[in-house]
Amino acid sequence: MDDDDGSAPLDEEHDHPTPEWVSTGSLPSDTEIQTIVSTGYKRFRHVDEGAVADYIPALAEVSPEAFGVAVAGVHGRVFAIGDAEQEFTIQSISKLFVFALVCNALGPAEARQKLGVNSTGLPFDSVMGIELNEDRTMNPMVNAGALATTSLVPGASPEEKFEHIVAGLSVFAGRTLVVDEEVYASEAATNDRNRGIAHLLSGYGRMYCDPDVATDIYTRQCSLRVSARDLAVMGATLADGGVNPLTGARAVSSGSCRRVLPVLATAGLYERSGDWLYDVGLPGKSGVSGGIVTVSPGKGGVGTFSPPLDEAGNSVRGQRMTTYLSERLGLNLFTSSPRQEGPAESEG
Ligand code: GLU
Repeated sequence: MDDDDGSAPLDEEHDHPTPEWVSTGSLPSDTEIQTIVSTGYKRFRHVDEGAVADYIPALAEVSPEAFGVAVAGVHGRVFAIGDAEQEFTIQSISKLFVFALVCNALGPAEARQKLGVNSTGLPFDSVMGIELNEDRTMNPMVNAGALATTSLVPGASPEEKFEHIVAGLSVFAGRTLVVDEEVYASEAATNDRNRGIAHLLSGYGRMYCDPDVATDIYTRQCSLRVSARDLAVMGATLADGGVNPLTGARAVSSGSCRRVLPVLATAGLYERSGDWLYDVGLPGKSGVSGGIVTVSPGKGGVGTFSPPLDEAGNSVRGQRMTTYLSERLGLNLFTSSPRQEGPAESEG
C-alpha cells in the first residue's frame, strides 16, 4: 500500500512499528477496570437529559432507560455492565469502519484524494463555513464523505459491496453482524436527504458508483446490529493495530488504523468533535441510535449505549461515561506528567 506523499513514508517498519516506538502505556489492573466501570455506570445511569432520535420512525421505539457500557483491552478481556449486550443499529458508527475498510483497500493516498480528511475543508477565514458547516464537511465521518466512502467499497455488484462491508465489520466485532430489517425499511422510506446528497456529489464527480446504489448500501450498513460490547471490541481492534484482540483475526493493517484514527479525532462527534476531544482526548464516533465507540491506541476500546441524545446527536450518558472512563483509566492521549527524574542537569 502506498502512502500519500514523501513526508510520512509508510513502509513496512511504519506499518508495523516496533513496540519501543509506541508509548501509549497500558490499562490499569483488571480489578481496577471492573471497579471503575461499575462506579461510572452507577454514577451516570440516572442522568435523564437528552431526547431519543425520531427522524427514522423505527428508532423512536427504543427505551430511553437503556444503558450499557463495555471496555475491551488489547489484552483480550472485556469488562461490561448494564445493557451491554442489548443490540441497536450501528448507524453513523459504521462510517468509521467502512472508511477503515476503504482506506485499507485503496491505500491512504487514494482515500485522502477521493474523500478528503479535513474537519471542515474550508479556509480559516471562510464566511461560508459559518453559514454552512453543519454536515457539509467533506470527510468520511459526515454523510457526504460517508456516502462517497461507501461508493468506493470493493465489489462488482451492490450485493458484493455490501457483503464486503458485513464481512469486514464482522471481523472487527468478532462475530457475524446482521441487518435490522425493520430499521432498514424505516430509514429507506425516509432517506431522501441522503439520496439528494449522493446525487449532488455525483454531479460534482465525487461519487464513485451509482448514487442510489451507494445510498441503499449506506442505509443497510447503518442498520447493522451491534451492542456496546461489540463496539468496545471493534474499538479495541483499531487500538490493537487492526487485529481483533479476542479472535486474533486481522481486520485492517496497522497503517490503516494510523490513518483512520486522526480523521475520527477531528470529526467523529459531528459539530461537537472539538468539545469531545477537549474533554475525552481520544478518537471516538457516535451514532444516532445512542452508541459511541472510543479508541485508546495501544490500550483498548470503549463502547457505550444510551439512546437519549444532545442537540448535536450524541448520546448524553455515553459522553459523560466515556469522559469519566478516559480520566479514571488514564486513556487521554494528551495527558502527560513531568519526567520523574526532574530537569536534566545543565552541563558546565
Ligand atoms: N442513518 C443515519 C443517516 O445517515 C446515520 C446518522 C447518524 O447516526 O448520525 O442519516
